[in-house]
Amino acid sequence: MNLVLLGPPGAGKGTQAIRISKHLGIPHISTGDMFRRATAAKTEMGEKASQYMNRGELVPDEIVIGVVNERLQEGDCASGFLLDGFPRTIAQAEALEKALARGNKKLDQVLDIEVGEEELVRRLTGRRTCRSCGKIYHLVFDPPKAPTTCDVCSGDLVQREDDGEETVRNRLRVYQEQTYKLIDYYRKRDLLSVIDGKQEVETVFTDIEELLRV
Ligand code: ADP
Ligand code: AMP
Repeated sequence: MNLVLLGPPGAGKGTQAIRISKHLGIPHISTGDMFRRATAAKTEMGEKASQYMNRGELVPDEIVIGVVNERLQEGDCASGFLLDGFPRTIAQAEALEKALARGNKKLDQVLDIEVGEEELVRRLTGRRTCRSCGKIYHLVFDPPKAPTTCDVCSGDLVQREDDGEETVRNRLRVYQEQTYKLIDYYRKRDLLSVIDGKQEVETVFTDIEELLRV
């Protein structure tokens, strides 16, 4: 299946993507994770992307589209993929459609996880991520046993640079201005399924399982 996970920052896309990817046996492609890895590796692309990310702005379309097109050519995407955090603009959505059409492919479904703004701020400011294995925690909603150590691999838990309240508010504004319109874009193409993201993690996943047209 070729899937897109849509929804504002903090809706739970990464949390659900891990479960969906395992359930369907398809790769989880997070553009945010790709940029953070490139930033940590200090590549030219990573250095450029981090300037936008740290301000809570979108990385320019031409950079993001290039990165995703390359990733979708890799062998593990042959039998499907789950895009998380891409597309975020209409131009990205159009580029994706074109890239898929070149390989005689198309999207099967777009899952939109919906959560209200104040809950998103609470989720993002309390998010902690393991530097080593990437596991996502929340200080209140899904706390680790020790506040700075990963339960799974004992790696350091860190707060993302863009999860401070001011940057979070900017990211939510950018979502409203540039990404929200994709809901309509995909609804018109009859690809959209809406999920209530305010429920518990496992309930959200059960809803997603039921909605997946497998
Ligand atoms: P996104 O990838 O959409 O930005 P994440 O999956 O990283 O969102 O989740 C953001 C934060 O919210 C994390 O700290 C995560 O543990 C927490 N979270 C995710 N889903 C839920 C949920 N259903 N209920 C409460 N907290 C959640
Ligand atoms: P995320 O991990 O999805 O929350 O993304 C973190 C940051 O990476 C975003 O705030 C953007 O700066 C950048 N980013 C990730 N995906 C995209 C995208 N599709 N288009 C533009 N910027 C992106």
